[in-house]
Amino acid sequence: MARGPMHGERLADRTAERECLLCGSCCFSSSDTHIRVLESDRERLAELADRFTRRIGEHHYLSMEHGRCAALSVEPDGRFVCTIYEKRPAVCRELEPASAACLNEIDENRAVAILALESLVRRG
Ligand code: SF4
Ligand code: SF4
Repeated sequence: MARGPMHGERLADRTAERECLLCGSCCFSSSDTHIRVLESDRERLAELADRFTRRIGEHHYLSMEHGRCAALSVEPDGRFVCTIYEKRPAVCRELEPASAACLNEIDENRAVAILALESLVRRG
C-alpha cells in the first residue's frame, strides 16, 4: 500500500512521543523557575492553572514538586507521563525530541529521572 508523507510524519510523531514517555528528563529540575508559563498557557490550563502553576516575582512557572513538574506522573512500568499533555505549556510543546535543547535536558536531568523511577520501584 502506498504511504504518503503524512503517514511518515505521524509515525515520527508517535515514535518521538514514545521516546519521551521513556525519558521524562525535561520535566525534572531542581529549579522552581524551570518552565515559564505564559498567560495563554494559563488560559489553556483553565481550572488546572492554580494547581499546576505558581507565580514567582513577575512571572508564572510550572509548579515543581520533589524535583519534577507537579504534572508529571512517574509510573512503575517505567513511563514518565504528562498528566496535562493536551494542555501543557508552549515551552513543553516546542521542545523537539533529539534537538540540542532536548539532549541538553537529557545530559542534565536523565540521572535524576532514573533515580526517581528506581525509588518508586523500590517502594513497590
Ligand atoms: S528530554 Fe527530549 S526525549 Fe526526553 S522527554 Fe524531553 S523532549 Fe522527550
Ligand atoms: S507540563 Fe508535562 S511535559 Fe511539561 S514539564 Fe510538566 S509533565 Fe513535563
